[in-house]
Amino acid sequence: MATPRRRPLIMGNWKMNLGPAEAEKLVDELLAILPPEPQADIAVAPTFIAIGPVCRRLAATRAILPGAQNMHWEDHGALTGEIAPPMLAEAGVRLVILGHSERRAIFGETDDMVGRKVAAAYRHKLIPVLCVGEQETERDTGATLEVVGRQVRAGLEAGGPPSDGDLVLAYEPVWAIGTGRTPTTPEIQEVHRFIRDEVAAIAGQATADATRILYGGSMNPKNSAGILALPDVDGGLVGGAALDPAGFLTIILSATA
Ligand code: PEP
Repeated sequence: MATPRRRPLIMGNWKMNLGPAEAEKLVDELLAILPPEPQADIAVAPTFIAIGPVCRRLAATRAILPGAQNMHWEDHGALTGEIAPPMLAEAGVRLVILGHSERRAIFGETDDMVGRKVAAAYRHKLIPVLCVGEQETERDTGATLEVVGRQVRAGLEAGGPPSDGDLVLAYEPVWAIGTGRTPTTPEIQEVHRFIRDEVAAIAGQATADATRILYGGSMNPKNSAGILALPDVDGGLVGGAALDPAGFLTIILSATA
């Protein structure tokens, strides 16, 4: 059977960079240089405080989809400092990054918490971008697929994905994030194929075939074309390189539908 074509998604994770004014400026710079009909969906995830201005700036265009970097799973409550899914939906957010390794490692997010967040994203019609990936020691000891499989199952079995929902996963080897190092392309393809098979086992082959699996971890204008050409890589989650509009554009242009 022919490999199904999935429209690539290139998503910038701006992390804890760019306040409201700087975020709007970067959005304006991107809008000015994007081709009228890119071959990929494009999304950006600003800080919470910049989400309002960025969503308002993007309200009149479908060229860039607004995203968020995290959220809580409850709709409201005594949870000081947290942001609820309906608040993101009201602001105009379309996608939300969940279970990023920085959230897991620095803020103690567990597989169980990430699973609740994915289920909450579906309840509020937000597209979850479920991040999974192994630590360097786990790769060195041959535990990559075991770790990634556990994270995929925990992320999806709590309540998603419904057959009518969009699902995005991001394979981000922790040791590749912000380090300039990446796995080889066969190593990336092996994990992406494995993730698709895990999604098929949980949610069926049709959902797995429609699921976009992004690669993240030191993707840059030089290595993006080779990574994005892999059969089970459907886009990129880009950190540092997404802060430079020209570099981000090069990555977008290297994705072919
Ligand atoms: C990330 O943190 O999601 C990421 C991919 O970062 P970088 O591109 O900077 O490695």
